[in-house]
Amino acid sequence: MSEGTVAFQRTPCPDCNGTGELRIESENINENFEVEKQTVITTCPACQGLGFQVPGKSGASG
Ligand SMILES: [Zn+2]
Repeated sequence: MSEGTVAFQRTPCPDCNGTGELRIESENINENFEVEKQTVITTCPACQGLGFQVPGKSGASG
């Protein structure tokens, strides 16, 4: 695969490092009182799972 023709340069999303996914490690305690680590993968809200910063919305606090 070669991605050569890119109209504009995409800035990788700093939140998910360009993966478009966020990994949240959560600890869950089972019935044996053992800590089970669970990795939850969710869509990065910053880039909507695209992996790069979306250049459209540019607003202050809102
Ligand atoms: Zn992201």
